[in-house]
Amino acid sequence: MRIENLHKSYGAEEVLRGVSLEIDRGDVEVLVGPSGSGKSTLLQCLNRLTEIDSGHIYLGDTEVTASETDPNEIRQQIGMVFQDINLFAHLTARKNITLGLRKVRGMSAEAARERADSELDRVGLADQADSYPAQLSGGQKQRVGIARALAMDPEVMLFDEPTSALDPELSNEVLAVMDELVDEGMTMVVVTHEMRFARGAASGITFLADGQIVERGPPDRLFENPSHERTAQFFENIS
Ligand code: ATP
Ligand code: MG
Repeated sequence: MRIENLHKSYGAEEVLRGVSLEIDRGDVEVLVGPSGSGKSTLLQCLNRLTEIDSGHIYLGDTEVTASETDPNEIRQQIGMVFQDINLFAHLTARKNITLGLRKVRGMSAEAARERADSELDRVGLADQADSYPAQLSGGQKQRVGIARALAMDPEVMLFDEPTSALDPELSNEVLAVMDELVDEGMTMVVVTHEMRFARGAASGITFLADGQIVERGPPDRLFENPSHERTAQFFENIS
């Protein structure tokens, strides 16, 4: 995926100020930066949840940001998991997944059910298919959200602080699923404060501040030997 000179404002505030980034297939890019630096906005631009002012985003040969590109198509190819996953409260875990498969993919009820159950199994929730969101822990809900995105066969998965609302134990369940996706070669862009995950899984770390990339590099270099004082300070403060 290629991001070229992205600019995005909310009213008078320019939130992304010329962001360019290339993420190869199978790479795991971890995005870090202070609150308000534009991390969530950047992820939202990547799957057209928000429209950019200028610049380009490409996924393979497709220009994500082209006006003729259907945002709904993009959102299947680029799955997203948020901090507070929005499951439908009145639907079971399985139904939360089959809904999109039936409506968007036009799958038969049986095929959708099979696919949903295999995705639930993949995230370790085979036994919770009939549970409603209120009956699931925060970590389980996050994993259903991941399963729902995976059911669409995405080429890229975006994660926006998927564990920051969770207790450590529940975070670990979610991180374990993410580690597995990394091992499977999934292309991922992950906003997280989990530096253990970043160290183990990231191919690159991008440090964003005030809507610009301050620096980017492999985790070891960025953690041990950052080029910019601002990056060093940031890592000191969060570790
Ligand atoms: P955090 O670490 O707190 O999640 P972030 O790096 O994800 O921060 P963003 O959520 O991308 O930051 O926000 C960047 C800036 O854009 C902030 O100043 C925020 O107030 C502003 N902003 C974000 N979304 C909107 C919106 N929908 N409307 C107006 N302003 C917004
Ligand atoms: Mg954010």
